[in-house]
Parts: sequence; C-alpha cells; structure tokens
Amino acid sequence: MKKQLKKKLYIDGRWQEAKDYYELKSPFSGDVIASVPLADEREVEDALESAQSGSEKMKQLTSLERSDILERASRIFEERSEEAVEILAMECAKPLKAARAEIARTIETYKFASEEAKRINGETIPMDAAKSGKGRFAFTIREPLGVIAAITPFNFPFNLVAHKLGPAFAAGNSVVLKPANQTPLSALLTAEIFEQAGLPGGALNVVTGRGSVIGDQLVKDSRVKMVTFTGSVEVGLGIKEKAGLKKVTLELGSNSAVIVDGAEDMNAVVDRCVEGAYSFAGQVCISVQRIYVQEILYDSFVHQFVERTKQLVIGDPLSEGTDLSAMINQGEADRIEEWFKEATEAGAHILYGGKREDAIIHPTVITGGSSALSLNCKEAFAPIVTITPYGSLDEAIGLVNDSEYGLQAGIYTTSVHKAFDALHRLQVGGVMINDIPTFRVDHMPYGGVKNSGTGREGIKYSVEEMTELKLVTFKL
Ligand code: NAP
Repeated sequence: MKKQLKKKLYIDGRWQEAKDYYELKSPFSGDVIASVPLADEREVEDALESAQSGSEKMKQLTSLERSDILERASRIFEERSEEAVEILAMECAKPLKAARAEIARTIETYKFASEEAKRINGETIPMDAAKSGKGRFAFTIREPLGVIAAITPFNFPFNLVAHKLGPAFAAGNSVVLKPANQTPLSALLTAEIFEQAGLPGGALNVVTGRGSVIGDQLVKDSRVKMVTFTGSVEVGLGIKEKAGLKKVTLELGSNSAVIVDGAEDMNAVVDRCVEGAYSFAGQVCISVQRIYVQEILYDSFVHQFVERTKQLVIGDPLSEGTDLSAMINQGEADRIEEWFKEATEAGAHILYGGKREDAIIHPTVITGGSSALSLNCKEAFAPIVTITPYGSLDEAIGLVNDSEYGLQAGIYTTSVHKAFDALHRLQVGGVMINDIPTFRVDHMPYGGVKNSGTGREGIKYSVEEMTELKLVTFKL
C-alpha cells in the first residue's frame, strides 16, 4: 500500500464514488494513506434500501449456502492475510506481531460462523406439562431479523467486524456496516473478500464517514431491526436512547483488573500481565489496567514487572520487532498526559514510563494512586497500569468491583476455594482463573455488565441475538 488510494463505498454489490472524501492519515507517520468516502444522507439511504432487498436474498439461501460463503471468506482472508496485516499497521498503527494475531483470529471467527450457520435450531416444547396444553404440539424456530446496522471501533477493525458480519450472515441477515473513521480500509477489504466469496449483492453495505452523522441515521431508521455496536460508553448510551424498540447489543469499555494472589510460576504471571497491559498500546477493551497484588508478593512483583516492561520495543508498527507504537491519535496522547499530571499531583508515583513522544505514550507503571484517580476509575485505553497491594481477598474483590465497568476480570491463585469465592463475587461478564482479563477466544460468550454493555458476542451467542424466536403450536 505504497501509493495513496482513492476508496469507494460498497453499496448493493457495487463500488460507488462518493460526493465527498476525507484524507486518512497513518497515526504513526502522519502520512496520508488513502482518500476515503464521507458518506452523506443520500448514500446512507441507498445502503439501507440495498440492505432491505439484500435481506430478502439472504433469507432465500439455505444454511449450507450461507455456511459455504463464510467458509470461502475465511479461506480468502487466509490468502490475503499479509495485505490485511499491512492495512492494520498503516491505518491504526498496530504492530505487525499484534496485526498477525488479529488476522489469525479473524480467519477463525469466520470459520466459527461458517460452522454455526449449520446449527441454528429451535426446540420442541412439552405443551402437555400445562393443564390446558393437552393435545397440543409445539416447537420454536429461529428466523433472521432482516437488516442489521453494525457500528464498529478502531482497535480490532477486522476481527470486531467479523464478530458482526459472521453471525449476521450465518443467521441470514443483511448488514449496513459503519466502521470507525480511522479504520475504513479494513472494512472495505472485508467487503472485497465477501464479494469474492459470492455473498449476494446488498447483503453487505459499507458506508464510511462520520459516526455522528451516519450512526444517527442508521440507528433511527425503521428498516433496521437491530443495532450491534462496539465502542465507547458515551456513544453506546446515545445509541440506546435513540434506537427505540430495536434490538441493541452494546460491547463497551472497561478498566479491567487482575488479582495476583499466588501462583506456582510468578515469572509467567508477570510476563502475561505485561502482555495484557501493553499489547496494542493498551487500546484493548480488556487490557490489564489495574493489578492488585497480595502484599507479601507486592515488592517482588513490581520489581519484575518494571524490569520486563523495560524490554518492550517502541517504534514503527511496520518494523518486525516493535511491541508498541503510536496511540490512535494525538488527542488520545494529550488525554493521557493530563492523566499523568493528575496522578502525580495526587501523590501517585510514576515508577516507569510517563513519557510521550509525538503520538507515542511510553509503557507506564504507576503505584500509590487512590481508586478515585482517572487512571484507576476511568477507562485508560492506553499503555498504563496501576499496581496496588492488598491484604485480604475480600479487599481485593472489593477493589475490582469498585468500578462502573464490568467486562472481564482475572485472578491468579493456587487455592480452589479462593477461585470459587472470586468467580461468584466478581461483578463482570467473564472471570479468568489463573489468567489475565485480556484472554479471549472467538467462540466463547463475551460481553459485560454495568457500563461495559449489554448482550453477548461469540458467534453462537450473537446468532441468538441476531435471530427472532418464533413459536409454532399445533392443536392435534
Ligand atoms: P467510539 O468513539 O465509541 O466509536 C465507535 C464507533 O461509533 C465508530 O464507528 C464511530 O464512528 C461510531 N460513532 C461515533 N459517534 C456515533 C454516534 N453518535 N452514533 C453512532 N455511532 C457513532 O469508540 P472507539 O474510540 O472507536 O473505540 C474505543 C472504545 O471501544 C473503547 O471504549 C473500548 O473499550 C471499546 N471497545 C469495546 C469492545 C468490547 O467488545 N466490549 C471491544 C473493542 C473496543 P467514528 O469513528 O466515525 O467517530
């Protein structure tokens, strides 16, 4: 992708010029990498109309046909994976190592969707369990919803799009996709791949441009039967307010925590926590942001953590050795600088890092901060961790739960009793015993409680959200 590209909208199976364009710049180098359509109201209307007719075509396909399309898309992704990796490095400054991991997951996500397309089923209901149900037979079927609006964030632009398109197509729906304005190239490559895989025209429509403009139009339109959104709490709340009676799933942010109570191999725990804190510069919704360490282990854990953090390579996302690169934009780096100031003024210690170079925030370790600090109570979405000692497990669980978020949490412990105690009391959507909260594979149920959202992803679970359950009874 050396030359600047002029991109097109993908509507009704055709690549269309737009009236207006914006310049897409690399977050790392600042170079213009593409000219991208800024869809207007008319173009979004075309996408909605096309999705309406696309949904009728999708309904006509058999499960085997839907499964085959998804299987082919997964295979084409495999063939075009290096192209996809380069897009990630260019449009969101994702280092190659992390970019390759995302593409490997994307391939798997579409494979899971292909498999799931073949097992969407209902159940029989024992009607005669009710006095007035005698002589009746009933079963349920799952029907596609129709048009789904998918709105996605910048941080996993291939795999989080796959978590919308995979289950939507598996279930026989059509989609209007609005990717983040910083990551349109991944969504447009995904459309090319589905076109190559034989998806019917109109089943996928990609509109790029401003979230506030396109998002509002999609969320309010009566042809859209469901909005599936991944992104920030602020935008998610706005969507929920405007969506009326549409189905809405919201996969939102977090300030995820891990408790380190004990482990056989503390070096491995430190390595894993460093990985969870700093991958993709902490711009991961389940990034390790808060670490609570049993006070006996605290000093040695902090020492090892800092030593391990020093080994991370900061630099160009397109260089093979890079672990950590630029934040998504300068504004995000500005925000984090303010948070450093707030932390030090409140008496917290920056043990390592705390530096900014252009849009790069160095990996940072902070101790001695209260729960009220932004770095503890808000979502950092940056390469920063706070490490805090605790006395009892009760105290540690209280600290993890002292958050408006609840996506995933982790606990390292050698005690099965403590593991069970924690898994029941942690207020989150997923508990990782002997791992960091950052763990995710793509078929597991995934989603949060509190301000981390509502609904679950993970292909099978998304298919449930993306279908309507219909009951049929027979009077015999
Ligand atoms: P964001 O600012 O909320 O944007 C997400 C998407 O919403 C983008 O496509 C954006 O478009 C669009 N949008 C903006 N304003 C809108 C509006 N008024 N109506 C409808 N859509 C609108 O989030 P982000 O900065 O891209 O991503 C970071 C956030 O995502 C973090 O909070 C992170 O925790 C969360 N996240 C959650 C999960 C999860 O599974 N729980 C996974 C990944 C990320 P524009 O880009 O054009 O503004």
